[in-house]
Amino acid sequence: MSTIKRFAVFSGSNFYPCGGWNDYQSSYATLDEAVEALNAGDWRHIVDLTTGQIFKIPVHDAESAKAVQCHMCRCEAPRIEGGVHIDSDRLGLSADTPCDRVFAMRDGAGWLAYVDGAPLLLHEQRGEVLRFSSVTAAYRTACEAAPKRWHP
Ligand SMILES: [Zn+2]
Repeated sequence: MSTIKRFAVFSGSNFYPCGGWNDYQSSYATLDEAVEALNAGDWRHIVDLTTGQIFKIPVHDAESAKAVQCHMCRCEAPRIEGGVHIDSDRLGLSADTPCDRVFAMRDGAGWLAYVDGAPLLLHEQRGEVLRFSSVTAAYRTACEAAPKRWHP
């Protein structure tokens, strides 16, 4: 038995959920470690056990990044600050959903911030990509940059 650390990872398959604590995989001291740990399954939640906050930070490798689609985008659900979709009428009937086309991509030892199929650039003309040392920094920057691409 090991002690549970601050960030607990739950994951599983949509077809065979175990339910609750049975979907618990492991725990990590930092959010970055928890995100970087790869888990099998269709869905994944990271819970900060000190606050109860749930993190859904989408991560892809170079291969899967090319094929990422977002069913909320296909339904033309509005997107707002922070890279999330909202109810079209804001009635709060469904929770804000992170857009699947805003994510962090693993790139060797570093991370890229992706919005709508392309990484954020450090320099437009030279086409240099912005690199991050942590997955959470890459995702945070992608979320901040997304609305500027959507509503320039
Ligand atoms: Zn979307």
